[in-house]
Amino acid sequence: MSMRVKYWGVRGSLPSSPPPEQTAKDVEGILQRFFQSGFSLPSQISEFMASQELPQLGGYGTATTCAEVISSKGSQIIIDGGSGIRNLAESMMKGPASKGKANIHVFLTHFHWDHLIGLPFFVPNFINGNRINYYAVQPELETMVRGLFKRPYFPVSFESLASDIRFYQLEPRRPIKIDDFTVTAYQLDHPDPCWGFKIENGGKAYAHCVDSEGTRCSQEALGPDLPLYQNIDLMYFDAQYTLPELAEKANWGHSAAQIGLDLAFREKIKQVIFAHHDPGAQTGDINELQRQTAEYHRWRNKQAETNHGKLPDVKWSFAYEGMEVDLSKI
Ligand SMILES: [Zn+2]
Ligand SMILES: [Zn+2]
Repeated sequence: MSMRVKYWGVRGSLPSSPPPEQTAKDVEGILQRFFQSGFSLPSQISEFMASQELPQLGGYGTATTCAEVISSKGSQIIIDGGSGIRNLAESMMKGPASKGKANIHVFLTHFHWDHLIGLPFFVPNFINGNRINYYAVQPELETMVRGLFKRPYFPVSFESLASDIRFYQLEPRRPIKIDDFTVTAYQLDHPDPCWGFKIENGGKAYAHCVDSEGTRCSQEALGPDLPLYQNIDLMYFDAQYTLPELAEKANWGHSAAQIGLDLAFREKIKQVIFAHHDPGAQTGDINELQRQTAEYHRWRNKQAETNHGKLPDVKWSFAYEGMEVDLSKI
């Protein structure tokens, strides 16, 4: 028994694709790497492509937050309905959702646009027989979801949706069972209240910590929300900014990878995925965030060695659209 997580949208704030000029520049870089790597023939293109990491060819993605957690038994939990949920819906329409036989669980962290904007385009909403359960800690959950289907914002009214839609208000920090998952909501650090989720299954634990500034760092400051970061195999963490940007944008509600890495070292979190990429961040900007994070990681290791200590091993990477992580392999 275990679970895997698939990320259908990893951008923050607003869906955003590179303008054509940027795409042209990126293609130029890819072509240069092709020839610099010693390739020269069209028949070698596939071999070259296979040797590259996906984001270095296609970027990190353009869609906003949507994650899918799938248990080895096949149960599913969706976290947030950013524009990434449209592609998830397409994949779900190959299964029972297309026949009105799906029982779908959607957990919402908060109601900023980038976490809701895809919900009116979530096709299972429109199919008779599907049951869609929405969960959030915030009492305004139902009003907020209904409000997305209002004219003149959207032509289809909530009342005319064919699926059976239900709303459940979660109690903070109280676990609930959804199929073979246990889900617990903990508060994050964000201007409008935002709740992260700890999802447990088969002895593995996933912590979804986006959007958060990570202003409460110490165990004392985290208080009742500390368990969100404890005994965690995989943490999804907000890393929209560089450290200097974080200082400039205090109280904007987003964090930097170094903050997440320090949390992971202290709480012995095994693997971290950094996400909520800035809408203006191009592939090169996110590569630069990775470089700075690697430099920080090396510096922290050196610091620990100087003090005759050793940091726990923490694997980390930056999220890209379509990325999948199997927790049984962590
Ligand atoms: Zn957001
Ligand atoms: Zn937000």
